[in-house]
Formats: sequence, structure tokens, C-alpha cells
Amino acid sequence: MIKKILVANRGEIAVRIIRAARELDIETVAIYSTADKDALHVQLADYAVCVGGPSSVDSYMNMNNILSAALCHNVCAIHPGFGFLSENASFVRMCESCGIKFIGPNADCIDRMGHKSNAKASMIEAGVSVVPGSADPITEVNVGFEMAESIGFPVIIKAVNGGGGRGMRICYDIDTFESLFELAQNESRTAFNSDLMYIEKFIENPRHIEIQVIADQYGNVLHLGERDCTLQRRNQKVIEEAPSTFITDEIRSQMGREAVAACKYVGYENAGTIEFIVDKNQKHYFIEMNTRIQVEHPVTEMITGFDIVKEQLLIASGKTLSMSQEDINFKGHAIECRINAESPENSFRPSPGALRYHHIPGGNGVRFDSHIYDGYIISPFYDSMLGKLIVHGSNREEALSKMRRALGELHIEGVDTNVQFLYALVGDENVVSNKYDTSYIAESLNRLLEV
Ligand code: ADP
Ligand code: ADP
Ligand code: MG
Repeated sequence: MIKKILVANRGEIAVRIIRAARELDIETVAIYSTADKDALHVQLADYAVCVGGPSSVDSYMNMNNILSAALCHNVCAIHPGFGFLSENASFVRMCESCGIKFIGPNADCIDRMGHKSNAKASMIEAGVSVVPGSADPITEVNVGFEMAESIGFPVIIKAVNGGGGRGMRICYDIDTFESLFELAQNESRTAFNSDLMYIEKFIENPRHIEIQVIADQYGNVLHLGERDCTLQRRNQKVIEEAPSTFITDEIRSQMGREAVAACKYVGYENAGTIEFIVDKNQKHYFIEMNTRIQVEHPVTEMITGFDIVKEQLLIASGKTLSMSQEDINFKGHAIECRINAESPENSFRPSPGALRYHHIPGGNGVRFDSHIYDGYIISPFYDSMLGKLIVHGSNREEALSKMRRALGELHIEGVDTNVQFLYALVGDENVVSNKYDTSYIAESLNRLLEV
């Protein structure tokens, strides 16, 4: 069993990993930037090492400093969390060459699945249904244009190395293609240091439904059901829930089977997510795989009873999966809201600053995963997520009313938050009656902001 790990992340997910490790008697080494010296993950870990300045390039993505900290502390493994180095194959290779286990799939697997175009090629070979689109990455706008014409408008232009909803543009007609391609490509150059793009059919009015998978080092692969992450703003998830009340049992099983087949095909290890979009006729299409733990993993934990982060640590220690597909039963309904320090009234602009006071809701079936405390300074250098409020009820109706109740109790003072906006969203009649698609927030924004 692994004895000591380094947690190569910050914020809520670093705290989540440290808690799971402690419950398994695994020692933890936190890393932090100079801006994060007072952060909760630094205080909760057994050891902490400053790895650089506030900019994440200097600290949380500084591979040499992170590996030096890991070697100095003699850790067995590194947990990357999400974002930062979590899908960086070069970092995984560096860990492997230092004899440190990377808690996730191997580098070749990340190369295959971490890039959106490579991943789609592998998924076609594995028999998974994918969105029609370009086979190879594109850098020239005229090549992209020909591709878009052969696919047929509308199309979506994506950064091959994209994530977090960035580097992406929807294009409805020939006339706007060139400018949208350049916008997306420039965003990709800035955010991901890459000009590789690809183009796929834009599926209109879809739901985003993804399958959580988990695999050990011996080729055993399971799926833990789906999460419905359709409520998005600018292609980023805002609320996630499980199970999805949109798909039939038959489609659910088919998507689960394809996700397991996909992982077996690429030799996947550890936790991952296969993301699909589902059109109004319930036809599903693979869009990407996230080869890491995801922000929204708690909703799956709430309905299955499994601790996915602990399972990740056990798998990395060489244990076989602690459950079989037959052991996985789904109980009730779970919903997660991402609580952000941002100002919905000002185009959701981030709202960094000092948190003066906060009150966390409690009660039956309420969970709050977070790193905040009174007096904590929310830094402008990182993303604005303050935590995740998760509820579990016996059915969707109960979970929704529990979420409204919990959001009503949640108080955060000192910075602006999206709590009121989330309250409006979970009480919205179309959300309650399950009539929405991925563009719902954009279309209903003015009304939601008035509540
Ligand atoms: P999830 O699918 O887990 O909800 P998100 O897309 O919301 O993932 O990303 C989780 C975090 O990781 C966010 O902070 C996001 O900005 C960051 N992130 C995701 N992909 C990348 C990437 N390729 N490069 C840098 N950061 C990323
Ligand atoms: P990211 O790496 O940023 O998460 P994804 O490829 O997962 O990028 O896409 C993010 C979101 O964009 C999806 O959840 C979905 O709402 C929308 N999207 C992506 N591809 C398509 C598509 N082909 N058709 C319609 N919507 C799409
Ligand atoms: Mg995605």
C-alpha cells in the first residue's frame, strides 16, 4: 500500500484528496504557491512545500519544482487532481522516470485520449459512436473550411488541447467561418499554447451526459453510471446531477457498455470520464474523455456509496477493484452546484477578495466540499470555485427541494457569489420539469437574473 503521496493541486480538490488519504493512513505532502501560503490544503497536509510564485506556470505547473519536492519528501505517488498537470503526458513520463507512481493512466494512454482528435480516432476503432468530424488536427483556415463544408453547417470549431470550455466556437454558416476559426485558434494559442484545431458537427439542442469509469491495473473496468451536466454556461458545467432523467435504461446501458469497451481498448487505468452529448432523439455521440478525477465526481459517490478518490489511491497501490459491476446499485438522486466567487450581474466576472464570514448548510443528505474559511483571501490568480454544494434525496424532486433549502442557508460574505443565481436555476420551472438543453442558461439568463 502507498504510504505517502504528493498532492499536485490546490483548492477544494487538494483538500478532498488529503481527506481521502488521511482516512487510508496515507501521509500527504501539499504544494503551494506564494499566493496560497495560508490555504487550507497547506494546513491540512502533513507536509507542505512552496513550489513557486502565484502564476500557475511558476508553481502548480512547474514540473521540475514539483518533482524535486516529491523526491525530497520521498513520496510513492503523485495525485494530480484536475486542471494543471492532470492531463499532461510529459509530466507523467517524468514521474515514471523518477520512480514515482502517477495516480492516473499511463503517459501513452493520456497521449491517446487527452487530445480530442486522437481520442476520437481511438474511439471509432473501439466501436463507440462519435460526433462526425475531422480525423486529423487542422492548422490552416482553408483546410478547416473545406472540412466544415463536407461535414455540413452548423459545425463546432475546437482546440485539440482545449478544456474548461475554452478555445471553442459554434459556426452556423460559411460567411462567419473564417473569423470564428481565427478567434478559436487565437484563444487556443493563448490558453493551451497550441494552434491545433479540429472541426465536428454541432449537435443542436443536446444534453451533456457522461459516464464515470474506473479501472484497476489488471484490466478490470467498471462504470459507475452517468451524470447529466446539461446546465452549462459558455460550455462549462454549472449544475450536475445523477442519474439523468433524460435517457432510457436501454440507452444508459448502451452508453455504459461503450464506455467500458473504450477503456479496455486503450488499456485505461484509474478513474476517468467518457463524455457524450445526446440529441433530442436520444442518439448519443462521444465528444471527449477526461483522463482524471472530475469536479462533479461527488454526485456519483452519493448515488453509489463509493468513495472514488479512495478507490483511486487503492488502484495506484496495486489493489484490484473493490467492487464488481453487479455490486454497483444506484440509490436516489444527487445534485451538485458549483459555488463560485463571481458576479452574475456583471457578466459573471470573478470576484476575488477577503471572505469575511460564511455559514455552511447541513442536515440530512447535504455535503459541502470546499477549502474556504473565514478570513480566507480568494486569490485572483486561480479559478473562482469556492466549493461544491451536493445534496442527495430519494428522488429528483426531493433533491431539488433539498438543494433550494441548502442554497437558502448558505451565506458567504465579503465577495460576490453565484448562490442567488443557482437558487433561481434550481427553482426554474423548466429545470424542475426537465425541459432544457445545453443552451438553456444562455437563453434564459435575463429571467434567471431577475429572480
Ligand atoms: P470537469 O469536466 O471536471 O467539470 P472542467 O472542464 O470544469 O472539468 O475543468 C476542471 C478544471 O480544470 C477547471 O478549473 C478548468 O479550468 C481546468 N481545466 C480543464 N481542462 C484544462 C486544460 N486542458 N488545461 C488547463 N486547465 C484545464
Ligand atoms: P471541454 O474540454 O472544454 O470540456 P468538450 O468537448 O467537452 O470541451 O465540450 C464542452 C461542451 O461544449 C459540451 O459539454 C457541450 O455542451 C458543448 N459541445 C461540445 N461539442 C459539441 C458538439 N459537437 N455539438 C454540440 N455541443 C457540443
Ligand atoms: Mg468536456
